[in-house]
Amino acid sequence: MSTHYPHLLAPLDLGFTTLANRVIMGSMHTGLEDGRQHLPALAAYFAERARGGVGLIVTGGFAPNIEGWAKPLAGTLATSGAARRHRAITDAVHAEGGKIALQILHTGRNAYHPFCVAPSRIKSPIGVFTPRELSAAGVERQISAFARCAKLAREAGYDGVEVMGSEGYLINQFLAARTNRRTDAWGGPYEHRMRFPVEIVSRMREAVGPDFIIIYRLSMLDLVPDGGTWDEAVTLAQAVTHAGATILNTGIGWHEARVPTIATSVPRGAFAWVTKKMRETLRAQGLQIPLVTSNRINTPEVAEGLLADGSADLVSLARPLLADPFFVAKARAGRPQDINTCIACNQACLDHAFENKLASCLVNPRAGHETTLLITPALRRKRCAVVGAGPAGLAAATTLAERGHEVHLFEAAAQIGGQFNLARRIPGKEEFAETLRYFTQRLQATGVHMHLGVRADAQALLAQRFDEVLLATGVLPRSPDIPGQDNAHVLSYVQVLQGAEVGPRVAIVGAGGIGFDVAEFLVTPPGHSATLNLTQWLAEWGVADPAQVRGGVVPPQPAPPARQVTLLQRKSGKPGRGLGKTTGWIHRAALQMKQVQMIGGVHYERITPQGLLVSIGEKRKEQRLIECDTVVLCAGQEPLRELQAPLQAAGVSVHLIGGAHEAAELDAKRAIDQGTRLAARL
Ligand code: FAD
Ligand code: NAP
Ligand code: SF4
Repeated sequence: MSTHYPHLLAPLDLGFTTLANRVIMGSMHTGLEDGRQHLPALAAYFAERARGGVGLIVTGGFAPNIEGWAKPLAGTLATSGAARRHRAITDAVHAEGGKIALQILHTGRNAYHPFCVAPSRIKSPIGVFTPRELSAAGVERQISAFARCAKLAREAGYDGVEVMGSEGYLINQFLAARTNRRTDAWGGPYEHRMRFPVEIVSRMREAVGPDFIIIYRLSMLDLVPDGGTWDEAVTLAQAVTHAGATILNTGIGWHEARVPTIATSVPRGAFAWVTKKMRETLRAQGLQIPLVTSNRINTPEVAEGLLADGSADLVSLARPLLADPFFVAKARAGRPQDINTCIACNQACLDHAFENKLASCLVNPRAGHETTLLITPALRRKRCAVVGAGPAGLAAATTLAERGHEVHLFEAAAQIGGQFNLARRIPGKEEFAETLRYFTQRLQATGVHMHLGVRADAQALLAQRFDEVLLATGVLPRSPDIPGQDNAHVLSYVQVLQGAEVGPRVAIVGAGGIGFDVAEFLVTPPGHSATLNLTQWLAEWGVADPAQVRGGVVPPQPAPPARQVTLLQRKSGKPGRGLGKTTGWIHRAALQMKQVQMIGGVHYERITPQGLLVSIGEKRKEQRLIECDTVVLCAGQEPLRELQAPLQAAGVSVHLIGGAHEAAELDAKRAIDQGTRLAARL
């Protein structure tokens, strides 16, 4: 047993094979699954995670047939030819001493293609196509396709498969009465509805033999009205175990659920109680099948705690292994502080997957790009200055130093972080502090020379004769130039987030990412972030015990807002359209629950001691005074690059990164990516 994290790092004997530890890399769609040309990159991506010591990797979803595609030409494993190609992946993982299972995903009605099928002809609220109802023969064909896919996975060298039975995909659609209105042997009472997954598992077991891992991902909490009951979930868990499953994984929430399940504002380990409840029930019935818990487990401490308290036998980490492939190795070495922690932002992983882009990671731009973004030793050691220790400067400085350059990092503030120091103060964004902890470690480990509290100027930089100067000086808040904005009750978002006093009624000018975050900050009483209090969070989002309420959802009970806030923008339409693809709805819903008024299509007339006078509509006919005690300006940013011209004029090699390069549509994803890529080249 390892001295660090004894539960997490304990091996798990499955009878016919042993997992090295209790960490499963959960399935994530990267986009690399969907084209033959990407197979080498996918193999390198998994090999790096296997090298990092994870116990078992689960691939992104592969469809067992065309009907099961998530989108046209999605990754499919249906032929021996495809199985041969997958050897590149399994060989690469095995060469690193790892184990890997292939996830079989049939999306049913959630698919983005016209051949989609479902138990009944009911369109998904998040789907584009109305599915074709499967005939009885069609149901049989889907089951055979699952079994064939498992057999091919074995042929391809995989150590097992995961059956995707949750998140509202085809299997879930058979299980729930809301999506299964069949009157034949596959519909009606629950015993009929659950025949589909049970048949799949038992035919798979028959096809692959006894010594092959079958993980069944079971929806333990549907989080949709008319979802499954607890008794149904338990009955299914028993049945798939008897049918031949080796491991049960926890699925939480259908994709169409209106409860966030993995975003950064979800408390860590928020749904482990569901797995614990299932594990206790199954153990009481004498079933010893190992259970995996998942969702928002991003540190070894959290994982160890959940395993130690009997919540589960294994933990599933998906995004945390995008952020740091060496999570397990660092935990094993007793160096958790070196882990690049997933901040659950979804910005480069899930958002990319939904935008049909290759998935990567905001805090680790190498994720998914292991074969192209190489951090190699520099051919010639240079003296480099990096000005600004925000995300762009931190990424650049540590990458340059890792490559062997002499790096001097100048930061005007007393601490590193730039705007991330403001972001981490937002209720629900506490995780952002982890990135700063990680970079603090990296700066030390790579030997970057720190100059904190030093505002670099052109003369000083010139005097030190650097070979390269990287300007990562970030942004300045944009002034919206509204008449009266020099009133004392007008504050910038920086002042507000740094603790300036704010009255009980607030108008916010600008409804971008920062306007939304500032609104969240202002409606939450200090020290009452629901992200840090699981009971409060579950009540706010209306999550209930599935043993009490079908589907585990009840009406939300938000805490009252700390202030009355109005959020404004000049664009017409509902504010918040430009927020993250997979998280924007959460921000909008959270503010609606706190009664924040959102108004689009305004023209700012002037600020008076009584409040903010706006006119509304194209012709500006209607005038309205938003009565408030404080006006907060969140009107975007301008780049800060005053050092560029004098340095360039003196012939210095100058590079702009992050906000200093371009403030429009700036986010930390771009800042870190740009800093890393530039530093990898210099
Ligand atoms: P900055 O972070 O602005 O850093 C620039 C640094 O340079 C500063 O520390 C500054 O002090 C220093 N500096 C400037 N001039 C000098 C000089 N002459 N000498 C020395 N030092 C100097 N992004 C996301 O991707 N996701 C989010 O969820 C998110 N949420 C946010 C929430 C809030 C409330 C805020 C304010 C921002 C948020 N952002 C988010 C934006 C993100 O923080 C920025 O995009 C990112 O910080 C930009 O990085 P940067 O390194 O370019 O600049
Ligand atoms: P932003 O998203 O560009 O929003 C700026 C807001 O100010 C908009 O609502 C804009 O809307 C308004 N505005 C622009 N110019 C104005 C002017 N002259 N007068 C009055 N209003 C004006 O920028 P941000 O909110 O400052 O955020 C900065 C970056 O941080 C964003 O690009 C974002 O990616 C990142 N961020 C991301 C998140 C996240 O959750 N992913 C959270 C926070 C920040 P109108 O022009 O319609 O008025
Ligand atoms: Fe985690 Fe954000 Fe990276 Fe996705 S992009 S893995 S959520 S840190």
